[in-house]
Amino acid sequence: MRISFIGLGSMGLPMARNLLDAGHELTVYNRTRNRADELGQVGLRVAASPREAAQSADLLITMLSDDTAVESVMFGDQGALGGLKPDTIHASMSTISHLLSRRLADEHRSRSQRYVAAPVFGRPEAAAGAKLWIIAAGEAETIERCRPVFGLIGQGVEVVGDDPAMANVVKLAGNFLLASAIEAMGETFTLVQKYGIEPSRFLEILNGRLFRSPIYENYGKLIAERRWEPAGFKLRHGLKDVRLALSAAEEVTTPLPLASLIRDHYLSAMARGWGESDWAALTRVLEENAGAAAETGA
Ligand code: NAP
Repeated sequence: MRISFIGLGSMGLPMARNLLDAGHELTVYNRTRNRADELGQVGLRVAASPREAAQSADLLITMLSDDTAVESVMFGDQGALGGLKPDTIHASMSTISHLLSRRLADEHRSRSQRYVAAPVFGRPEAAAGAKLWIIAAGEAETIERCRPVFGLIGQGVEVVGDDPAMANVVKLAGNFLLASAIEAMGETFTLVQKYGIEPSRFLEILNGRLFRSPIYENYGKLIAERRWEPAGFKLRHGLKDVRLALSAAEEVTTPLPLASLIRDHYLSAMARGWGESDWAALTRVLEENAGAAAETGA
């Protein structure tokens, strides 16, 4: 299977590297071309446009920041949509809106191309270790064709049906839950710190006795150690995902009051210039609200 990969950011780069390491020949495209230099040369071809990348692909994978990035890469004269041949597959792995996913499904169908929405859970370390969890939706047969390749980048595939947009809804709902855990941990760590309780001791109690899970463990550690740089998942992308969850919820008249609150906290963080920090840096807003920033050395 000839694979083309578009988007060599924090996630895309290690994912593409895993495909190359598995012996696949890979065509890549990235807006900032020199990102491809980090992949080395063996088996690598760098395309000059998304369209050129798509022309040689049996499977095109996109891993881009947001809806705007996916639109700019897929549509237009040099867009990948015009390059893909009939019956070839686009697996869209970015976290994008369910609405754009629907549009992509329609556009691909009208060109007899195949489309799978396959957003992922897991940070860049998980991408590097091929430990992502892939949430896939689309035609069962198309997902089966992708499975061997998904097996090189993830530890499992959860299929949620044949309507691609449902994979995006599951991903957005999951990220809202993650953001809620960060909000709750940020608030509680700020509280205990104001009483002088050692964050690492508090984390030990949480993980050891009550909440043991990869999320509490990993994000709890980031928050306890106040480690916001380098960002695994950028705060500005976190804001994007909470907004997308709110918009998906609005379509089905479902209030998400907690998401509205978290959106505002992320906006406060953006206003302070923290968009490139890890999204766990939401905690800094909560610390400032509690007048705790000076005590914690922020
Ligand atoms: P990132 O490091 O910010 O990389 C973004 C990628 O998108 C880069 O390749 C960038 O190209 C490209 N891009 C941005 N705007 C573009 C535009 N207008 N036109 C063309 N290309 C554009 O993001 P990431 O952390 O890899 O995340 C990628 C996707 O995975 C996002 O949807 C994110 O929500 C999702 N995700 C991330 C994580 C995580 O922990 N990081 C986990 C799960 C899912 P340049 O190099 O030219 O800027």
